Amino acid sequence: TQNALPGVLSLHAYTPGMPIDELQRRLGIKDVLKLASNENPLGASPAVRKAVAAAAADQNLGLYPDGSGYALKQAIARYHDVQPEQITLGNGSNDILEFLSRIYAGPGRAVMFSDYAFAVYSLATQAQNAEAVIVPAFPADHPTMPFGHDLAAFARVLKTRPDVSLVFIANPNNPTGTWNTPQEIEAFLDTVPPHVIVALDEAYFDYQDVELRSNARAWLDRYPNLLVCRTFSKIYGIAALRVGYSLSHPAVADLLNRVRQPFNNNALALIAAEAALADQDHVRESVELNAAERLRLPPLLQSMGLKILPSQANFLTIDFARNAAPVHQGLLERGIIVRPMASYGLPNFLRVSIGTRSENNRFIDALRDVLGTQR
Ligand code: PMP
Repeated sequence: TQNALPGVLSLHAYTPGMPIDELQRRLGIKDVLKLASNENPLGASPAVRKAVAAAAADQNLGLYPDGSGYALKQAIARYHDVQPEQITLGNGSNDILEFLSRIYAGPGRAVMFSDYAFAVYSLATQAQNAEAVIVPAFPADHPTMPFGHDLAAFARVLKTRPDVSLVFIANPNNPTGTWNTPQEIEAFLDTVPPHVIVALDEAYFDYQDVELRSNARAWLDRYPNLLVCRTFSKIYGIAALRVGYSLSHPAVADLLNRVRQPFNNNALALIAAEAALADQDHVRESVELNAAERLRLPPLLQSMGLKILPSQANFLTIDFARNAAPVHQGLLERGIIVRPMASYGLPNFLRVSIGTRSENNRFIDALRDVLGTQR
Protein backbone atom coordinates (compact mmCIF):
# COMPACT_ATOMS: atom_id res chain seq x y z
CA THR A 1 0.00 0.00 0.00
CA GLN A 2 2.91 2.41 0.56
CA ASN A 3 2.99 3.21 -3.16
CA ALA A 4 -0.55 4.62 -3.15
CA LEU A 5 -0.83 8.35 -3.75
CA PRO A 6 -0.84 10.42 -0.52
CA GLY A 7 -4.33 11.79 -1.20
CA VAL A 8 -5.71 8.27 -1.36
CA LEU A 9 -3.85 7.14 1.76
CA SER A 10 -5.42 10.01 3.71
CA LEU A 11 -8.96 9.14 2.56
CA HIS A 12 -11.66 7.74 4.80
CA ALA A 13 -14.09 5.66 2.75
CA TYR A 14 -17.65 6.95 2.47
CA THR A 15 -19.82 5.21 5.08
CA PRO A 16 -23.32 4.68 3.74
CA GLY A 17 -26.40 4.26 5.94
CA MET A 18 -26.66 0.77 7.44
CA PRO A 19 -28.54 -1.55 5.06
CA ILE A 20 -31.93 -2.78 6.30
CA ASP A 21 -31.01 -6.47 6.05
CA GLU A 22 -27.92 -5.94 8.21
CA LEU A 23 -30.03 -4.68 11.13
CA GLN A 24 -32.62 -7.39 10.46
CA ARG A 25 -29.89 -10.01 10.86
CA ARG A 26 -28.45 -8.33 13.97
CA LEU A 27 -31.75 -8.00 15.78
CA GLY A 28 -33.42 -11.08 14.34
CA ILE A 29 -36.49 -9.01 13.44
CA LYS A 30 -38.11 -8.18 10.09
CA ASP A 31 -39.64 -4.88 10.98
CA VAL A 32 -36.72 -2.51 10.42
CA LEU A 33 -37.21 1.12 9.43
CA LYS A 34 -34.42 2.91 7.58
CA LEU A 35 -34.43 6.69 7.72
CA ALA A 36 -30.74 7.08 7.00
CA SER A 37 -30.09 7.81 3.33
CA ASN A 38 -32.64 10.45 2.35
CA GLU A 39 -34.52 8.10 0.08
CA ASN A 40 -38.10 8.63 -1.10
CA PRO A 41 -40.37 6.77 1.37
CA LEU A 42 -42.88 6.21 -1.46
CA GLY A 43 -40.17 4.56 -3.55
CA ALA A 44 -40.48 4.43 -7.31
CA SER A 45 -43.86 5.18 -8.84
CA PRO A 46 -45.99 2.24 -10.05
CA ALA A 47 -45.40 3.41 -13.64
CA VAL A 48 -41.64 3.08 -13.13
CA ARG A 49 -41.91 -0.38 -11.59
CA LYS A 50 -44.07 -1.49 -14.48
CA ALA A 51 -41.66 -0.10 -17.08
CA VAL A 52 -38.68 -1.80 -15.43
CA ALA A 53 -40.49 -5.14 -15.12
CA ALA A 54 -41.56 -5.00 -18.77
CA ALA A 55 -38.06 -4.09 -19.89
CA ALA A 56 -36.51 -6.86 -17.80
CA ALA A 57 -38.89 -9.34 -19.42
CA ASP A 58 -38.66 -8.10 -23.01
CA GLN A 59 -35.20 -6.71 -23.54
CA ASN A 60 -32.21 -8.69 -24.65
CA LEU A 61 -30.07 -8.32 -21.55
CA GLY A 62 -27.15 -9.71 -23.52
CA LEU A 63 -26.82 -6.39 -25.34
CA TYR A 64 -25.04 -3.32 -24.04
CA PRO A 65 -27.30 -0.39 -23.14
CA ASP A 66 -27.47 2.76 -25.25
CA GLY A 67 -24.18 4.32 -24.15
CA SER A 68 -25.32 7.75 -25.29
CA GLY A 69 -28.56 7.61 -23.28
CA TYR A 70 -30.30 9.14 -26.28
CA ALA A 71 -33.94 8.74 -25.21
CA LEU A 72 -33.39 9.82 -21.61
CA LYS A 73 -31.36 12.85 -22.67
CA GLN A 74 -34.13 13.88 -25.08
CA ALA A 75 -36.64 13.66 -22.23
CA ILE A 76 -34.42 15.61 -19.80
CA ALA A 77 -33.75 18.24 -22.48
CA ARG A 78 -37.49 18.75 -22.96
CA TYR A 79 -38.08 18.86 -19.21
CA HIS A 80 -35.48 21.60 -18.64
CA ASP A 81 -35.83 23.31 -22.01
CA VAL A 82 -32.11 22.82 -22.75
CA GLN A 83 -30.23 21.17 -25.61
CA PRO A 84 -29.39 17.45 -25.28
CA GLU A 85 -25.73 18.43 -25.80
CA GLN A 86 -25.85 20.18 -22.42
CA ILE A 87 -26.71 16.97 -20.58
CA THR A 88 -24.38 14.36 -19.12
CA LEU A 89 -25.72 11.19 -17.52
CA GLY A 90 -24.07 9.72 -14.47
CA ASN A 91 -24.28 6.50 -12.50
CA GLY A 92 -25.93 8.51 -9.76
CA SER A 93 -24.97 12.17 -9.49
CA ASN A 94 -21.90 11.03 -7.53
CA ASP A 95 -20.54 9.87 -10.88
CA ILE A 96 -20.81 13.44 -12.21
CA LEU A 97 -19.05 14.87 -9.14
CA GLU A 98 -16.22 12.47 -9.80
CA PHE A 99 -16.01 13.35 -13.52
CA LEU A 100 -15.58 16.96 -12.44
CA SER A 101 -12.75 16.16 -10.07
CA ARG A 102 -11.05 14.07 -12.73
CA ILE A 103 -11.25 16.93 -15.21
CA TYR A 104 -10.53 19.91 -13.00
CA ALA A 105 -8.68 18.68 -9.88
CA GLY A 106 -5.18 17.27 -9.51
CA PRO A 107 -1.81 17.94 -7.90
CA GLY A 108 -1.20 21.70 -7.68
CA ARG A 109 -4.91 22.46 -8.04
CA ALA A 110 -7.47 23.25 -5.39
CA VAL A 111 -11.17 22.53 -4.98
CA MET A 112 -13.35 24.74 -2.84
CA PHE A 113 -16.39 23.77 -0.77
CA SER A 114 -17.95 24.51 2.60
CA ASP A 115 -17.27 22.91 5.92
CA TYR A 116 -20.07 20.38 6.61
CA ALA A 117 -20.71 20.00 2.87
CA PHE A 118 -21.61 16.69 1.21
CA ALA A 119 -18.86 14.11 1.95
CA VAL A 120 -18.17 13.17 -1.65
CA TYR A 121 -16.65 16.59 -2.42
CA SER A 122 -13.67 15.94 -0.17
CA LEU A 123 -13.41 12.31 -1.27
CA ALA A 124 -13.31 13.28 -4.94
CA THR A 125 -10.78 16.05 -4.21
CA GLN A 126 -8.43 13.91 -2.15
CA ALA A 127 -8.61 11.01 -4.57
CA GLN A 128 -7.23 13.37 -7.23
CA ASN A 129 -4.46 14.55 -4.89
CA ALA A 130 -5.77 18.07 -5.12
CA GLU A 131 -5.99 20.45 -2.18
CA ALA A 132 -9.35 21.00 -0.50
CA VAL A 133 -10.05 24.63 0.33
CA ILE A 134 -12.69 24.32 3.01
CA VAL A 135 -14.63 27.52 3.62
CA PRO A 136 -15.88 27.96 7.20
CA ALA A 137 -19.64 27.50 7.42
CA PHE A 138 -21.93 29.86 9.31
CA PRO A 139 -21.37 29.31 13.06
CA ALA A 140 -23.56 27.05 15.20
CA ASP A 141 -25.22 30.09 16.77
CA HIS A 142 -26.03 31.79 13.46
CA PRO A 143 -29.52 33.32 13.78
CA THR A 144 -31.03 31.79 10.63
CA MET A 145 -28.68 29.29 8.99
CA PRO A 146 -26.41 27.48 11.49
CA PHE A 147 -23.76 25.39 9.68
CA GLY A 148 -25.00 26.77 6.32
CA HIS A 149 -22.81 27.62 3.33
CA ASP A 150 -21.44 31.19 3.61
CA LEU A 151 -21.25 32.20 -0.05
CA ALA A 152 -19.90 35.67 0.74
CA ALA A 153 -16.97 33.90 2.40
CA PHE A 154 -16.66 31.66 -0.69
CA ALA A 155 -16.23 34.81 -2.80
CA ARG A 156 -13.65 36.27 -0.41
CA VAL A 157 -11.60 33.08 -0.21
CA LEU A 158 -11.75 32.53 -3.96
CA LYS A 159 -10.08 35.93 -4.54
CA THR A 160 -7.07 34.76 -2.52
CA ARG A 161 -6.79 31.34 -4.17
CA PRO A 162 -6.05 31.51 -7.90
CA ASP A 163 -5.30 27.77 -7.82
CA VAL A 164 -8.98 26.90 -7.23
CA SER A 165 -10.34 25.34 -10.41
CA LEU A 166 -13.59 23.85 -9.11
CA VAL A 167 -16.19 24.93 -6.54
CA PHE A 168 -18.86 22.65 -5.11
CA ILE A 169 -22.06 24.12 -3.68
CA ALA A 170 -24.73 21.79 -2.33
CA ASN A 171 -28.11 23.45 -2.32
CA PRO A 172 -29.82 22.38 -0.15
CA ASN A 173 -26.81 20.88 1.57
CA ASN A 174 -26.52 17.37 2.96
CA PRO A 175 -26.02 16.62 5.90
CA THR A 176 -27.26 19.95 7.25
CA GLY A 177 -30.41 20.59 5.17
CA THR A 178 -29.43 24.27 5.05
CA TRP A 179 -29.75 26.32 1.90
CA ASN A 180 -28.82 29.45 0.01
CA THR A 181 -31.33 31.66 -1.72
CA PRO A 182 -31.20 32.05 -5.52
CA GLN A 183 -30.16 35.68 -4.91
CA GLU A 184 -27.17 34.58 -2.81
CA ILE A 185 -26.09 32.04 -5.40
CA GLU A 186 -26.41 34.52 -8.22
CA ALA A 187 -24.41 37.12 -6.29
CA PHE A 188 -21.67 34.53 -5.83
CA LEU A 189 -21.72 33.45 -9.49
CA ASP A 190 -21.23 37.09 -10.47
CA THR A 191 -17.89 37.11 -8.60
CA VAL A 192 -16.47 33.86 -10.03
CA PRO A 193 -13.81 34.17 -12.74
CA PRO A 194 -14.80 32.34 -15.94
CA HIS A 195 -12.03 29.73 -15.67
CA VAL A 196 -13.44 28.39 -12.38
CA ILE A 197 -16.17 25.77 -12.72
CA VAL A 198 -19.01 26.01 -10.20
CA ALA A 199 -20.86 22.76 -9.60
CA LEU A 200 -24.25 23.50 -8.09
CA ASP A 201 -25.40 20.21 -6.62
CA GLU A 202 -29.19 20.24 -6.50
CA ALA A 203 -29.82 16.66 -5.38
CA TYR A 204 -32.68 17.91 -3.15
CA PHE A 205 -33.99 20.53 -5.59
CA ASP A 206 -37.64 19.43 -5.69
CA TYR A 207 -38.00 19.45 -1.91
CA GLN A 208 -37.39 23.19 -1.71
CA ASP A 209 -40.19 25.70 -1.30
CA VAL A 210 -41.04 27.03 -4.75
CA GLU A 211 -39.65 30.53 -4.15
CA LEU A 212 -36.24 29.08 -3.23
CA ARG A 213 -35.80 26.99 -6.38
CA SER A 214 -33.18 28.14 -8.85
CA ASN A 215 -33.83 28.68 -12.52
CA ALA A 216 -31.07 26.46 -13.88
CA ARG A 217 -31.92 27.19 -17.48
CA ALA A 218 -31.59 30.96 -17.08
CA TRP A 219 -28.34 30.67 -15.12
CA LEU A 220 -26.78 28.29 -17.62
CA ASP A 221 -27.41 30.85 -20.35
CA ARG A 222 -25.68 33.52 -18.26
CA TYR A 223 -22.82 31.55 -16.67
CA PRO A 224 -20.97 29.21 -19.05
CA ASN A 225 -18.81 28.04 -16.10
CA LEU A 226 -21.87 26.75 -14.17
CA LEU A 227 -22.80 23.10 -13.97
CA VAL A 228 -26.05 22.02 -12.31
CA CYS A 229 -26.27 18.51 -10.93
CA ARG A 230 -29.52 16.60 -10.34
CA THR A 231 -30.39 13.06 -9.35
CA PHE A 232 -33.08 10.43 -9.79
CA SER A 233 -32.19 8.99 -6.36
CA LYS A 234 -34.29 11.31 -4.20
CA ILE A 235 -37.62 12.71 -5.39
CA TYR A 236 -37.87 10.19 -8.27
CA GLY A 237 -37.36 7.28 -5.87
CA ILE A 238 -34.93 5.15 -7.89
CA ALA A 239 -31.78 5.36 -5.76
CA ALA A 240 -31.27 1.62 -6.31
CA LEU A 241 -30.81 2.12 -10.04
CA ARG A 242 -28.21 4.93 -9.87
CA VAL A 243 -29.05 7.70 -12.31
CA GLY A 244 -28.02 11.33 -12.05
CA TYR A 245 -27.28 14.01 -14.59
CA SER A 246 -25.79 17.41 -15.11
CA LEU A 247 -26.73 20.44 -17.16
CA SER A 248 -23.85 22.55 -18.37
CA HIS A 249 -22.38 24.37 -21.32
CA PRO A 250 -22.03 21.85 -24.19
CA ALA A 251 -18.22 22.31 -24.13
CA VAL A 252 -18.12 21.24 -20.47
CA ALA A 253 -20.49 18.34 -21.20
CA ASP A 254 -18.05 17.29 -23.93
CA LEU A 255 -15.24 17.11 -21.34
CA LEU A 256 -17.42 15.11 -18.94
CA ASN A 257 -18.22 12.72 -21.75
CA ARG A 258 -14.51 12.10 -22.33
CA VAL A 259 -13.91 10.78 -18.81
CA ARG A 260 -17.24 8.95 -18.52
CA GLN A 261 -17.15 5.16 -18.67
CA PRO A 262 -18.68 3.95 -21.95
CA PHE A 263 -21.83 2.37 -20.46
CA ASN A 264 -22.17 4.06 -17.09
CA ASN A 265 -25.97 3.71 -16.95
CA ASN A 266 -27.46 0.26 -17.29
CA ALA A 267 -30.40 -0.41 -19.61
CA LEU A 268 -33.03 -0.82 -16.88
CA ALA A 269 -31.86 2.36 -15.15
CA LEU A 270 -32.23 4.36 -18.37
CA ILE A 271 -35.77 3.08 -18.83
CA ALA A 272 -36.67 3.69 -15.19
CA ALA A 273 -35.39 7.26 -15.26
CA GLU A 274 -37.36 8.05 -18.39
CA ALA A 275 -40.55 6.65 -16.84
CA ALA A 276 -39.85 8.48 -13.58
CA LEU A 277 -39.42 11.82 -15.32
CA ALA A 278 -42.71 11.25 -17.14
CA ASP A 279 -44.60 10.63 -13.89
CA GLN A 280 -44.71 14.11 -12.41
CA ASP A 281 -47.82 13.18 -10.40
CA HIS A 282 -45.61 10.91 -8.31
CA VAL A 283 -43.15 13.77 -7.88
CA ARG A 284 -45.95 16.06 -6.67
CA GLU A 285 -47.23 13.45 -4.23
CA SER A 286 -43.71 12.94 -2.86
CA VAL A 287 -43.11 16.69 -2.54
CA GLU A 288 -46.41 17.22 -0.72
CA LEU A 289 -45.83 14.37 1.71
CA ASN A 290 -42.35 15.67 2.52
CA ALA A 291 -43.48 19.29 2.89
CA ALA A 292 -46.30 18.34 5.28
CA GLU A 293 -44.06 16.16 7.43
CA ARG A 294 -41.22 18.71 7.41
CA LEU A 295 -43.70 21.12 9.01
CA ARG A 296 -45.25 18.59 11.41
CA LEU A 297 -42.09 17.05 12.88
CA PRO A 298 -40.07 20.01 14.24
CA PRO A 299 -42.59 20.97 16.98
CA LEU A 300 -42.74 17.32 18.09
CA LEU A 301 -38.95 17.21 18.36
CA GLN A 302 -38.81 20.62 20.03
CA SER A 303 -41.31 19.42 22.63
CA MET A 304 -38.65 16.86 23.60
CA GLY A 305 -36.20 19.71 24.17
CA LEU A 306 -34.31 19.11 20.91
CA LYS A 307 -33.10 21.65 18.39
CA ILE A 308 -33.28 21.05 14.63
CA LEU A 309 -31.30 22.67 11.86
CA PRO A 310 -33.43 24.52 9.30
CA SER A 311 -34.14 22.16 6.39
CA GLN A 312 -35.27 22.56 2.80
CA ALA A 313 -34.54 18.91 2.09
CA ASN A 314 -36.11 15.53 2.85
CA PHE A 315 -34.34 15.08 6.16
CA LEU A 316 -33.95 16.77 9.53
CA THR A 317 -30.65 17.16 11.35
CA ILE A 318 -31.22 17.03 15.09
CA ASP A 319 -29.02 18.52 17.80
CA PHE A 320 -28.94 16.41 20.98
CA ALA A 321 -26.58 18.84 22.76
CA ARG A 322 -24.53 15.84 23.91
CA ASN A 323 -22.88 12.89 22.19
CA ALA A 324 -25.64 11.42 20.04
CA ALA A 325 -24.04 7.97 19.69
CA PRO A 326 -26.08 6.41 22.54
CA VAL A 327 -29.29 7.77 20.98
CA HIS A 328 -28.28 6.31 17.63
CA GLN A 329 -27.64 2.99 19.38
CA GLY A 330 -30.97 3.14 21.22
CA LEU A 331 -32.81 3.69 17.97
CA LEU A 332 -30.98 0.78 16.33
CA GLU A 333 -32.08 -1.46 19.20
CA ARG A 334 -35.65 -0.40 18.39
CA GLY A 335 -35.20 -1.31 14.73
CA ILE A 336 -34.67 2.22 13.40
CA ILE A 337 -31.66 3.24 11.35
CA VAL A 338 -30.74 6.93 11.26
CA ARG A 339 -27.47 8.58 10.33
CA PRO A 340 -24.76 9.55 12.84
CA MET A 341 -22.98 12.81 11.98
CA ALA A 342 -19.71 12.21 13.83
CA SER A 343 -17.83 11.68 10.57
CA TYR A 344 -18.85 15.23 9.60
CA GLY A 345 -17.47 16.61 12.87
CA LEU A 346 -20.98 16.86 14.33
CA PRO A 347 -21.01 14.12 17.01
CA ASN A 348 -23.97 15.68 18.83
CA PHE A 349 -26.20 15.41 15.78
CA LEU A 350 -28.23 12.71 14.05
CA ARG A 351 -29.68 13.07 10.57
CA VAL A 352 -33.11 11.54 10.04
CA SER A 353 -34.76 11.15 6.67
CA ILE A 354 -38.40 12.20 6.50
CA GLY A 355 -40.53 9.11 5.93
CA THR A 356 -44.24 8.51 5.57
CA ARG A 357 -46.46 9.84 8.34
CA SER A 358 -46.63 6.45 10.07
CA GLU A 359 -42.87 5.87 9.72
CA ASN A 360 -42.21 9.27 11.25
CA ASN A 361 -44.61 8.50 14.10
CA ARG A 362 -42.73 5.29 14.79
CA PHE A 363 -39.47 7.24 14.84
CA ILE A 364 -40.87 9.90 17.20
CA ASP A 365 -42.25 7.27 19.59
CA ALA A 366 -38.98 5.34 19.60
CA LEU A 367 -36.98 8.52 20.14
CA ARG A 368 -39.18 9.52 23.07
CA ASP A 369 -38.63 6.06 24.53
CA VAL A 370 -34.85 6.22 24.02
CA LEU A 371 -34.55 9.68 25.57
CA GLY A 372 -36.76 8.58 28.47
CA THR A 373 -34.53 5.62 29.27
CA GLN A 374 -31.31 7.64 28.84
CA ARG A 375 -32.27 10.57 31.04
N1 PMP B 1 -25.33 15.27 -3.72
C1 PMP B 1 -25.86 15.33 -2.50
C2 PMP B 1 -25.90 16.65 -1.80
C3 PMP B 1 -26.35 14.16 -1.90
O1 PMP B 1 -26.85 14.21 -0.66
C4 PMP B 1 -26.31 12.94 -2.60
C5 PMP B 1 -26.86 11.66 -2.02
N2 PMP B 1 -26.50 11.33 -0.76
C6 PMP B 1 -25.73 12.95 -3.86
C7 PMP B 1 -25.25 14.12 -4.40
C8 PMP B 1 -25.52 11.71 -4.66
O2 PMP B 1 -26.65 11.00 -4.93
P1 PMP B 1 -26.72 9.98 -6.13
O3 PMP B 1 -25.33 9.54 -6.47
O4 PMP B 1 -27.56 8.89 -5.62
O5 PMP B 1 -27.34 10.74 -7.25
